[in-house]
Order: sequence, then structure tokens, then C-alpha cells
Amino acid sequence: MSKKGFNTTNLHSDRQDNPEHGVLHKAIHTSVAFGYADARELAEVFQGKRSGYSYGRQMNPTVTALQNKITAMEDGVATAAFATGMAAIASSLLALLRQGDHIVSSAFLFGNTNSFFNTLQTLGIAVTFVDATDVANVEAALQANTRLVFVETIANPVTQITDLQAIGELCRARGIVYCVDNTMTSPHLFRPKRVGASLIVNSLTKYIGGHGNALGGSITDTGLFDWTQFENIYATYRSQPHELWGITQIRKKGLRDIGASLGPEAAHHLAVGSETLSLRMEKACANAQALAEFCEHHASVKRVYYPGLRSHPQHARATQLFDGYGALFSIDLAAGVDCFDVLNRMENVVASSNLGDTRTLAIPVAHTIYHEMGAERRASMGIEDSMIRFSVGIEDRDDLLADFSRALG
Ligand SMILES: *Cc1c(COP(=O)(O)O)cnc(C)c1O
Repeated sequence: MSKKGFNTTNLHSDRQDNPEHGVLHKAIHTSVAFGYADARELAEVFQGKRSGYSYGRQMNPTVTALQNKITAMEDGVATAAFATGMAAIASSLLALLRQGDHIVSSAFLFGNTNSFFNTLQTLGIAVTFVDATDVANVEAALQANTRLVFVETIANPVTQITDLQAIGELCRARGIVYCVDNTMTSPHLFRPKRVGASLIVNSLTKYIGGHGNALGGSITDTGLFDWTQFENIYATYRSQPHELWGITQIRKKGLRDIGASLGPEAAHHLAVGSETLSLRMEKACANAQALAEFCEHHASVKRVYYPGLRSHPQHARATQLFDGYGALFSIDLAAGVDCFDVLNRMENVVASSNLGDTRTLAIPVAHTIYHEMGAERRASMGIEDSMIRFSVGIEDRDDLLADFSRALG
């Protein structure tokens, strides 16, 4: 594909690949199996000598079209799509890591990723959680058997911003896989390849799909990591070009063997949603900025967490790295203000656990998504009992401001 802008490339990508009947959208292909007139071709597909489809759990044409869009958005070499963002994370790490390995992870982590990393520990893969807003903490945690560093761009719900550039340099110098979860920024605001990411996770459920109507996840290889230095690649996957070793092992040991495959209908929804990613992000970020500023000066609010505020500890880093400050912010309420009462007074803001929808959603995090991890871990992540997280949508700004004004009193 010629180097066009982000949106042009995305909008026209389905037409690049010989579309049937001149369709502008890739068709929803529901066939699980694929037939070959020459049985030798089928064998070559299995052996990776010819591109083609074998079985729907591993590959599907509608899903491939979406993968190509994500690869272009992230400026990568290849993408594997999964049924959910968690499937992408869990399947990829299980495919790449072995018992006795060690990973370093940001301590400020999506709750279910945190839970999965605890499961990894029970399987003999050690995890050290560090404050990744400072590369020094990551460096201090590295061991001889550290295979991978995992971070998010903007953490949820406190919006800490990872020391992305410096950790990228550290991982490159030490030959460690650098896995960046880009969900909170989306490729519209940030391309993790710029800071040296090896692998990029996106929960397609969130901003890329954008409408809360389909689940999906992806992992993109940027081509920057030298897989010949990674001992865990099985011999059978070393016949491909070097840059494809990692994604091949993820597709075989992760997607194929674990089987959390993305369905073609969901892939279609996500692909259509992705067409307006930039428009939605710009509007949602502008709304989030206005609401965060409103809350910052309100007597019922003790503290606001939003990278777009000058008071945010990593405001300068966000300005330098991202093309915007994101559409998610959180508040701690002043003493005596009840988070449930505030939420119940809102008309346009929906009490809901998702984020990245076109609608503004809000959740009292300590009582819901971060309930299971317990008070001690919540405190270590800076999560107060009164905290509300807002995932800001694309409604008219004044309607949202009126809602906040009414709800906060
Ligand atoms: C939602 C989310 C995930 C998981 O995505 P699902 O599609 O819900 O499985 C992973 N990482 C981050 C940062 C998320 O916000």
C-alpha cells in the first residue's frame, strides 16, 4: 500500500485486495473451511509455503482484512486478531513464554491483565510489578531470565503515563521484548513503534471499534525486535523470515491452539467502526478536556486525573508523545460526596463498565472493576473508594457539562 495518511489508508484498504463485485467493504465470510482443487496447494498452505486459508479458527478473509487495517494503523509488519483484547494478551504471552521465564510489568494495569499475570505466576512465570512511570524502576527489576516488559500507554483509571521512550531504549539495549498495550491511546493518538515497541496490543472493543457493539483484540508485530535472539521460538517456526517468527508462534501456539478466534461478523463491525476512529477521538478528547477542567474547579471534587491538565504529573510527557490526551479521566470526590449519588443524578452519562464507546460511560471503580483485587492492591494503585472513572463519548459538550453541573451540585 502506498504511504498515504492514516484515514485515507484505512478507508480504502479493503479495495486494495481484489474485492469481489467491486465491494467497498470486505465481505463477511462465514465459511469455516476452504477447499482446494489441487490437494498439493492445501499441503503448501499448511506448510506455510503458500498463503491461503485452511480452517476458520486460524484465519478468515474478513478477519485478515481487519488485521491488515490494524497493521497499517500501527505501521507494523503483521497483526493477529483475537476474540477479545484479553484473548490477545493471554494467548500471545502463553505462546511466547515458558516456565522459568520472568517478565516485568507496569503495576498500573487494566484489572483483568493484572489478574491474568497473577495466573502466569502460578504457572511458573515470574512477574515483577513496578511503577513504570520511571524507567529506573523497570531497569532495577530486570533479571537474567527477563523475556518481556509489558506496559500500557495511559494507565486506567489513574491515567499515569508510562516512561515509554526510555523503556523502549532499555529493552532494545537488553534485547528484551517490549509489549505496549495501546488501547487507551489508540493508534490515532500514539504509535508505540515510535518508542521502540516490539509488540502492540489493542483491545479493538474500545476506541478502534468504538461503538460498544463488538468484542475484539489484536497484537501487532512492529518488526523492530530481533526474534533470532529469542530462545523460546520453536524450531518449526524458524523457517519463516526472521521478522515473522514471533507472530507465527503467536498465531500457532496462541490463536490456533488456544482458539480464542475473532468471528467474521465482529471483524466487520470493528472494521466499519475503525473508519471514524480519528473523528471520534478528536471529539471525545475535546469533551474530556472540557469536563476535566470543569471538575478541577468544582468544590465536590477532591482531585482530577487527566493528562490534559497542567496539574497532571506527566502532562509534559503526554504532550511530547501523544497527539492528544485521551478520552478517559477519573475523579476523587470530596469528603462526604457519595459516588453512587453523583452517578445516579446524571442523565446523559451511563453507569457502565465499558470504555471507548461513542456514549459517555462512568463507573465507580473501587466497587466494581477493581473490587476483586482487594483494598491493599487498590491502595497501591492509587484507587480511592470515591473514585469515578469517565470514558467520555462524542455527545454535545454542553449537554455533558450540564449533566456534570447537575450531578456534582
Ligand atoms: C479493555 C482493555 C483490555 C481488554 O480488552 P477486551 O476486549 O475487553 O478483552 C486490555 N487492555 C486495556 C488497557 C483495556 O482497556
